[in-house]
Amino acid sequence: MTVSVGNLRTLVLNADMQPLSWAPLSVWNWRDAFVAVIQNRVIQVKTYDDVLVRSVNEAFEVPAVVALKRYRKRKRVAFTRYNLFVRDQFTCQYCGERLASKDLTFDHVVPKSRGGRSSWTNIVASCQKHNLMKANRTPREAGMRLIRKPFEPSPFELDALARTSAMTEADLHRTWMDFLYWDSELEG
Ligand SMILES: [Zn+2]
Repeated sequence: MTVSVGNLRTLVLNADMQPLSWAPLSVWNWRDAFVAVIQNRVIQVKTYDDVLVRSVNEAFEVPAVVALKRYRKRKRVAFTRYNLFVRDQFTCQYCGERLASKDLTFDHVVPKSRGGRSSWTNIVASCQKHNLMKANRTPREAGMRLIRKPFEPSPFELDALARTSAMTEADLHRTWMDFLYWDSELEG
């Protein structure tokens, strides 16, 4: 197969036509999506207008958006660095400053050395400065306030938070927009 489509990706929707996940956004390499369409595992919702993949005898359209045939139930949100940053919207939970992930760190609200656990309810995103300032103390001891009590987000909550975090245009293909921002546009 001769291919000139580079690293095109395919947006993957659940059977309800909502993205399978927002954090991170559910995308597949287009080849995986293409195979899934051929194998009848997913429905091809949209193709890339201007792209054809050629085999010896045929030309095929490349899927831009596919949807699962069966609704996939949402599981608990994995406790990962990225998901924690999404929950806290890449914002230091002490000063409210929004930062790139490389400039953020994690703070154990109750320090590890004092029995604090590594869990959704005891870790927050923090800037370096406030992480250092707080050191081995509780917020109360340090005279610092959390802007929000840490919580374990449901998949739906995390999706909602991810939608509010800016994604760069480059991350999103225009054919995906209808599926990503359709309802928010309607709300004005
Ligand atoms: Zn801070």
